[in-house]
Amino acid sequence: MKKKGIFIAAVAFFVLAAVVISDFFYSHNTSADFLAMNTTVSLDVTGFHSKEAVERIKSEIIRLDEKLLSRTKHTAEIYSVNNGKTEISDELKGILEYLKQLEKDSGGAFCTGIAQLTDLWGIGTENKQLPDKEEISAAIKNHEKWQINDNNVILPENVKLDLGAVGKGTACDYAKDILSAHKCKEAVVAVGGSVLLYGSEKYQVGIRNPLGEVNEYCAIIEAAQGCISTSGNYERYFEDENGNRYHHIFDPSTGYPADSGLLSVTVIAESGTASDALSTACFVLGIEKSLALFEKYNADAVFITTDKEIITTFGEFESETITVTNNNYSLGDINE
Ligand code: ADP
Ligand code: MG
Repeated sequence: MKKKGIFIAAVAFFVLAAVVISDFFYSHNTSADFLAMNTTVSLDVTGFHSKEAVERIKSEIIRLDEKLLSRTKHTAEIYSVNNGKTEISDELKGILEYLKQLEKDSGGAFCTGIAQLTDLWGIGTENKQLPDKEEISAAIKNHEKWQINDNNVILPENVKLDLGAVGKGTACDYAKDILSAHKCKEAVVAVGGSVLLYGSEKYQVGIRNPLGEVNEYCAIIEAAQGCISTSGNYERYFEDENGNRYHHIFDPSTGYPADSGLLSVTVIAESGTASDALSTACFVLGIEKSLALFEKYNADAVFITTDKEIITTFGEFESETITVTNNNYSLGDINE
């Protein structure tokens, strides 16, 4: 009896030791902040290999920007494609094929081929302007007709690609693969307005008050794993002498800043690229026309309307919940 007692005590000790040791290893935490993709990236990773994971995520996001997606850095494939090169790598092909599908599914509300329009308006640059109607019509000619054929991109005349609406979400997807390869336990990766929540914990994420200051929230959502991206009319814009605001999310069918009764759209999806592209697309489409996209991409959204209503697609049994924290806003019903 005594021997059995000692044996059980020894097993219990080893189990306890194993739990303590694994907890010690898994609770290694590494953080980093740096600039990439013209925005701030911040990483907070927990896991035994968190240091290696953080270093790798940093170098991959910088590579993604400098070697693939940037349209201003001469080293990037998109820059080369926009300047006459047709052949692309398998890696870029995979990304562009996914974007082509998103373009089709959104009925063209999201469109990668609008670089000419973005440049014409110049919002967020020194050359911002309200262009002539004729210039706008010319800039949206054939923008949706770019194609991928094997490892070649074919651009119609005057059409160039702009991945500004999705790069940050794609960076979150790259980060997710690295976190999983390094067996990390928990992580929050923020690339500008796209945030990856990784692990089993539930996180509280503030939704920015579109009419307030940079760090002011108007609601808090509680969400588990996934990527959350927000597009809003407050991010980059200019105002004319009459107070009309011209912002940086364009309706590709008109060539003008989208005006669908929204101040911002936040999309939560498993894919970072989808959450980023959909937040832009839904900002253009407005609430009703966006709904079919959420089913297809297994996504959810929080819309903030110009009437200061906050409307979510969260179902009764879904894991996400929302709390409105600013009295100027009220929770609306998606079915009304
Ligand atoms: P941000 O880049 O500020 O986080 P978004 O993700 O909504 O915001 O992306 C906006 C950027 O995407 C614009 O600056 C422009 O480069 C590009 N863009 C604007 N309108 C569209 C659109 N309808 N489809 C695809 N890209 C767009
Ligand atoms: Mg976006």
